[in-house]
Amino acid sequence: MSIIDEYKNKIAGLIEERKKILDSYPSTNLMAKKRLLICSDCDSFRETTKTCSECNCFMPLKAKLNKSVCPLGKWGARSQDYVKQSP
Ligand code: SF4
Repeated sequence: MSIIDEYKNKIAGLIEERKKILDSYPSTNLMAKKRLLICSDCDSFRETTKTCSECNCFMPLKAKLNKSVCPLGKWGARSQDYVKQSP
């Protein structure tokens, strides 16, 4: 297998992994899904309880609130540019 094929497979795997994360929140709007993707890559995210160790919030709910913000500045309120920095 060539190195290009290896990269293609790796990228396809990453896309599939992201899709599974998004599909695990079926009733969530796009803004919340983008926020939850950032959280899922964050060291402060507790996967088992879906909570943030910085604010102790339940993230599937907090991510839906327009005015909520990440305590570490990784995403902001909807009225702002809500994805402030890449994870
Ligand atoms: S709200 Fe911010 S600090 Fe908390 S898990 Fe999400 S990205 Fe990490």
